[in-house]
Amino acid sequence: TPGISNVHDVRTRKMGDMIVVDAHLEVDATLSVEQGHDIAVEARDRVMQRHRVINMMTHVDPYKRPDRDHAKPGHVAGK
Ligand SMILES: [Zn+2]
Repeated sequence: TPGISNVHDVRTRKMGDMIVVDAHLEVDATLSVEQGHDIAVEARDRVMQRHRVINMMTHVDPYKRPDRDHAKPGHVAGK
C-alpha cells in the first residue's frame, strides 16, 4: 500500500476458516494523524479484499523511530 514503509509485529489467528490479523504499519513520521489513518484504512481494505481475513487491527508507527509498545513476552502489542 502506498505510504507504508515497513510492517512489523504481524500476528494472525484463525477464526473458523477465516483469519484475524494484527499489524503495526510504519509510515513517514511527518504525516498528519489523518494521513496516517487513511493509509492504515487503505491497507486494511487491501488485505481484506485479497485474503480470507475477517478483520485486521492496525497500529500506526513512525518509520524507523523506536516506540515502546512493541510486543514483549507477556504483553499484547497495541494495547
Ligand atoms: Zn510498533
